[in-house]
Amino acid sequence: MAKGDLSEYRRRRDATRTSEPVPPAAPRTRKKKSGNRFVVQEHHASALHWDFRLERDGVLVSWAVPKGLPPDPKVNHLAVQTEDHPLEYATFEGTIPAGEYGGGEVTIWDHGTYDLEKWTDREVKVVLHGERVQGRFVLFKTGRNWMIHRMDAPARPDWERLPELIKPMLAVPGELPPPAEEQAWAYEMKWDGVRAVVYVDGGRARAMSRNDRDITVSYPELRALGLALGTTQVVLDGELVAFDERGRPNFSTLQQRMHVADAASARRLSARVPVVYVIFDLLHLDGRSLLREPYERRREELDTLGLAGQSWQLSPVFDGPGADVLAASLAEGMEGVLAKRRDSIYEPGKRTKAWRKVKNIRTQEVVIGGWRPGKGRRAGTIGSLILGIPEDGKLRYIGQVGTGFTDALLADLSSRLTRLERKSSPFATELPSAVRRDAHWVTPKLVGEVAFTEWTPDGLLRHPSWRGLRPDKSPQDVRPE
Ligand code: MN
Repeated sequence: MAKGDLSEYRRRRDATRTSEPVPPAAPRTRKKKSGNRFVVQEHHASALHWDFRLERDGVLVSWAVPKGLPPDPKVNHLAVQTEDHPLEYATFEGTIPAGEYGGGEVTIWDHGTYDLEKWTDREVKVVLHGERVQGRFVLFKTGRNWMIHRMDAPARPDWERLPELIKPMLAVPGELPPPAEEQAWAYEMKWDGVRAVVYVDGGRARAMSRNDRDITVSYPELRALGLALGTTQVVLDGELVAFDERGRPNFSTLQQRMHVADAASARRLSARVPVVYVIFDLLHLDGRSLLREPYERRREELDTLGLAGQSWQLSPVFDGPGADVLAASLAEGMEGVLAKRRDSIYEPGKRTKAWRKVKNIRTQEVVIGGWRPGKGRRAGTIGSLILGIPEDGKLRYIGQVGTGFTDALLADLSSRLTRLERKSSPFATELPSAVRRDAHWVTPKLVGEVAFTEWTPDGLLRHPSWRGLRPDKSPQDVRPE
């Protein structure tokens, strides 16, 4: 492509269809003195990217940068050179109609002037003086594409990279804090869904489950959250929740979403069984870890992000008295409340007393160790599941569950359990002979959840009812509540 040539720009656009400036093709009679403007445009096309344009020889030489300008010298970003744009483009903001080249919203992310240090066919070195970005950058060619690298100190001297993995902090089950301590605690609803820590970098959201599995593909709703945050780098903590028609979290509805691991099915299902990400914590923001900040401060910073969308919302914080919040949670059909110490730091992967969960219904995570065939209407399928809890590396029997299943759930469980079938009992403890007689044993890999009323003196579940599988939990995470 000749320097300062807009023929490619014009070839790709129809001036009668796009709202972008398309200057008439005039013979270039003079070599213009090169100006030194730069602009970065946020472009919500089929894939979000930032267009980085430098004024040069009467045009804007342009690169599409999928994740935006890197804030950190240790992380280079891909930059794809695109056709030169006319100078008029530097002030363009608006919507390119769908179906046209680059269809989507364009906004100016930053603009200013630059000092030129070097310009060759393979390397461009500039110092940017923008409103959001000040700093020295180099674009360099590697094969077909370019990379952009920040050369001087990071945007801030104490810049911390977005962490790869922050394990979620966990709450201890228990009672409400005593009234005398009320001032020290804040309250949130307990959302009956699955925990997810979401990382947003360069407008891309990635979700990790409690057992460190990447579950992004199962929840395409999160894509829009990434787009909304743009270049704001965050790590969020929250719960993925499916709501029923009355607006109450419904764990069994969510079950339909939890096992879907291919993108096309997940997208189809998200239309029928939508999921909302209910956000309750902010662990990292634009180069700064918030883990050592007190809960109250983290929540303040979370509020400033103004996160509210069709598929994401903030979990409200309530002041005490805790008893009132718990009563409200029961009236609203919520699972319970979380009491969080206002001065508590975030301790990744730890179950700490700084967070307490107080439940309206008792639930227990369980490991499936076997099943018994059904009778009557359930003949030919599962009658009950034989449940255990790991204790000192061994599986302790805690009872059976035979209610709470739908036909679809039973069919799904049957096929999963068949694959895990084995000859010997995985339980370390003695089982009642009636259970032993017709039991089918399985390798204890599947984690589920039951609701129950209380523990019997022998350590068995009273009145357990099946709530669903917990693919987000591993057997070693299961403990008595
Ligand atoms: Mn673009």
